[in-house]
Amino acid sequence: MPDGLLIVGDAHCRFDPVFGQGISVAAMEATALMGMLDESKHTKPGFNQRFHTKASRIIATPWKMSSTAVFRHPKVIGNRKWTVPLLQRYSKRVYERSSDNRDTYTRLIKVMNLLQPSTHLLHPKVAKDILLKSHVQIT
Ligand SMILES: Cc1cc2nc3c(=O)[nH]c(=O)nc-3n(C[C@H](O)[C@H](O)[C@H](O)COP(=O)(O)OP(=O)(O)OC[C@H]3O[C@@H](n4cnc5c(N)ncnc54)[C@H](O)[C@@H]3O)c2cc1C
Repeated sequence: MPDGLLIVGDAHCRFDPVFGQGISVAAMEATALMGMLDESKHTKPGFNQRFHTKASRIIATPWKMSSTAVFRHPKVIGNRKWTVPLLQRYSKRVYERSSDNRDTYTRLIKVMNLLQPSTHLLHPKVAKDILLKSHVQIT
């Protein structure tokens, strides 16, 4: 990436509109860029790469959430990592448990609203509850 060229929003990573994440991601990237520009009045070489690293961290959670969900459809083409079926089963159980576990529900809402990374749902409290109480039939 040449210095001086910086990509934000949909031009960098476009989300399926069904998930309603694109505006939030673009706004979070704009906020991150504003913070970086406030910190250093003059952009040094590699500024764009540092920003893109920050942007990729912003993108990671919504991308994982939406790609895990769309890969449930067998006709969706893409590189299905071996972790995808595991994440699909786990997320199904998170949804099930969030119907009567307040902590799991609160964590899920925070991740869905991009306030926390997806690892927030891998907390031992959530995993233990899923292992002990989940009755969902996984096909
Ligand atoms: C049907 C649909 C529904 C959606 N629903 C949701 C939703 O409910 N929630 C949500 O969060 N996201 C939703 N999205 C996604 C969201 O709209 C985008 O993620 C968001 O608008 C991206 O912002 P952006 O600034 O990166 O790009 P854009 O909003 O596309 O802005 C790019 C701008 O650049 C202009 N432009 C392009 N080329 C040039 C040029 N050569 N010179 C000058 N100007 C140029 C364009 O005209 C445009 O105004 C939806 C998207 C679609 C298509």
